[in-house]
Amino acid sequence: MAIFMKQPQEVHLTEPISPNPYPGCDVCAALVREWIAVTEPASPLFDLAKAHRIVDETRDHRNQDEATAPAI
Ligand SMILES: [Zn+2]
Repeated sequence: MAIFMKQPQEVHLTEPISPNPYPGCDVCAALVREWIAVTEPASPLFDLAKAHRIVDETRDHRNQDEATAPAI
């Protein structure tokens, strides 16, 4: 007979980390606007998985931006 260890359910909302846009980059700024839209719980666009992808995309784009221009 198996004993099931009932773990208490963790009910914290995983707050997605914020994107870190490159200052003055339009693409990064657009990604941030999209991130804000998908992290608004009241929004029909609310999608935390997408929010994480946007953070990754912003990081990648920032790396490209920093490779082509010196960091401010
Ligand atoms: Zn950028």
